[in-house]
This record gives sequence, structure tokens and C-alpha cells, in this order.
Amino acid sequence: MARMRPHAFSIFAEMSKVSIQTQSINLGQGFPDTDGPLELKQAAIRAIESGEGNQYPPPNGFPVLRKAIADHQKRFYSIEIDPDTDVVVTTGASEALASSLLALVEHGDEVVFFDPAFDVYRAGIDLAGATPVGVPFLVAPDGRLRPDVERLSAAITSRTRVLLMNTPHNPTGVVFTAEEMRDIADIAIAHNLIVISDEAYEHLWFPRHQHIPFATLEGMPERTITVGSGGKSFSFTGWKVGWATGPTNLIAAVRGVRQHLSYVSGGPFQIAMVTALGLSDTYFTEFRDQLRRQRDQLSAGLTELGLVVLPTEGTYFLSTDISSLGYTDGMEFCRMLPQTFGVAAIPFQVFTEGGIGFKTYVRWAFCKQPAVLAEAVSRLSGLSRHH
Ligand SMILES: *Cc1c(COP(=O)(O)O)cnc(C)c1O
Repeated sequence: MARMRPHAFSIFAEMSKVSIQTQSINLGQGFPDTDGPLELKQAAIRAIESGEGNQYPPPNGFPVLRKAIADHQKRFYSIEIDPDTDVVVTTGASEALASSLLALVEHGDEVVFFDPAFDVYRAGIDLAGATPVGVPFLVAPDGRLRPDVERLSAAITSRTRVLLMNTPHNPTGVVFTAEEMRDIADIAIAHNLIVISDEAYEHLWFPRHQHIPFATLEGMPERTITVGSGGKSFSFTGWKVGWATGPTNLIAAVRGVRQHLSYVSGGPFQIAMVTALGLSDTYFTEFRDQLRRQRDQLSAGLTELGLVVLPTEGTYFLSTDISSLGYTDGMEFCRMLPQTFGVAAIPFQVFTEGGIGFKTYVRWAFCKQPAVLAEAVSRLSGLSRHH
């Protein structure tokens, strides 16, 4: 299919392969190198041994898990949803996004999102036969990035159907402020748009910032599909349990499509996610604290090397502007890194239309053990002299 051809290449696959070949430290792909809580592993093992999770789960997810998801939305955000009708369990946040797009947009509809964007957005929109409309982040004179709400507003046409939003934002590490959220919500309401809100990093925000779900804003619950990721929230990215929540009519549409994709998946892991979502507040604050320390460590290390590190408000990723060291092309820089220094990172270009935007920005994952981050920084010590 012609429109999917540009999506055949994956920088993540290339970088992971090169990382292995060159024995590099992979700060490219965002997966933690430490597993989540032991009790979740034990819950998954129990679900296998007891037989509870070994056959097809119900199409929209085990009822206990749908209830745990609804309870989680209420506990953290005071969002009230009916677990029987307003929740669907998916094969990771990825399938929740793909099935929401396939369910809600017609051929030729426009889906608007901020650029740079997680790479599955463009692929999912093209798969659905809709038109991707990327709105570049605002670049402040000091290089800092913010969602450009005015440009978002200007990008809306009569064909716009969906705003595909993501906060905390991958790859920029930006957490949208209450004011930015309200402005975006007002645009959605004024043009009667649906918001698909990718909140995969809902628990990963750092001091002075806080995640606000779109579904908590007035006028938004009835038009918002909220997407969550068990992999990201509990450090089991290989388990691929995600979910979408929202108003009954929209979730019914998503359920209708999703059942024809993977049908069901991850029985034992679904059961373990019930335990995960019920973990104490301490788990969530310690998880954040630990990642904040890793962020600070990598940020200090890269700054020391002469890179400009943008403020990282949430997610697994920090962004640097490599032009401070005289580098002009992130793609070239990231292809040079593993061979020369034994470290892998990802250029922002791969998250932009045609791979051309934000040419001097590079993304680094800090969800790695402190010793690994220290080794990466030490390997990069010749960076400023290299150029
Ligand atoms: C990782 C990620 C996802 C996908 O999550 P899975 O649960 O692994 O499918 C979705 N959105 C963003 C922004 C991500 O970084």
C-alpha cells in the first residue's frame, strides 16, 4: 500500500541493531533496563499456574482489570467511568491508538497533532486513510519547546476530525501546563473535535510539573478518549497491556474495531495489571523520584560535555540541542555516535514530517541504571573535540 511505504523504515530497529553490533549503550529506545515490581511478576506467574489467564480473555479485557482501570482513573483524577461500557483493554497503548484512529476517522479526514510526534501517529493516521497534519512545537529563542496552541488553532479546517494529543510528551519531555490544556480543550470544543489523548507517561512527571488528563477539563469528558500504558507505568514494556477509556459511544466504536485486530492478548499480564493499578501511592512517587534522579544525572553529564539540555518535565527522555557543539544534523550525529563512542540516541528528525524538522535536536533515554548512564557519559567524553 503506497501510503504505508514511508513507514517501513524504523530508526528504532536500525539503532537497536547497530547498538548490538557495536556493543553500544542504547539510549535510543525508551525501555527501562530494570524490571518493575517483583509482586507484579509473581502475579503474572500465579495467573499462569492457576490457569486463570491462559485462555482467551473476554474481548474487552478481564472485568477485574476494567474495574481496576476505572478505579485508577477515579483515584488519581476523580474521573468517573463505567468499567462495563467505558473501558477497553488493548495490546499496549499502541493498539489503543491504532484502533481509536481506525474507528473514528473517515478517509480524507484530517488528524492534527504536535510535531515532533511519536512515530506511530503518522503511521496510524495513514493506515486509517486520513491526512496527518503536524503542527510544529514553538521554539523559544533559548531553544526551549512549547506546544504552539495558536498554530494548532490555525491548522483546524472543516475536514479536521481528531486532535491527537500527548502529554507528558514524547520526544520533547514537555508536560502541558493547565493553561495550554485549557486552550487546546477550547479549540476542540469550538470545532466539535474528538481528542485522542495519549497519556502513556501519565505517572512520569517531575517536580514543578503535573500531569493533567484532558478528560478532567470541563466540556472534555464527552469528547475524549484517554489512552494508558501498563508497560510505561509499571516498567514492563514487553507485556503490552494498555487501555482506552472514555464516553460509552466512543469506546463502543473503538471496541468494535479493536476486536478485529488482536482480538485479545496477554491474559496473565492483564491479571497482573490488576495488582499493578492497585499499588500504593508510594510506588508511584518512588518511581517518579528514581527517574528524576536518572534525569538529573544524565542531564548534568550531557551539559558537562557542552550539549544544551532542554528542561525535561516528564517521560523517559531528555532532549539536547547539538548545535552548541557545532553539529548541524541529528541524523548524521546519531549514525556517528555508536561507531565512534559506543552510545546510541535518536534524532528528532524521525519524529517529524519527511524526516526534516528539528534537525539539531536529539533524544536520549534516561530510564537506565545510574551506572549505565555514568558509563554512557564517560564514553561520550571526547564529543566536543571530535567534531
Ligand atoms: C511507548 C509509547 C506508546 C506505546 O505504548 P505501549 O503500551 O508500549 O504500546 C504510546 N505513546 C507514547 C507517547 C509512547 O512513548
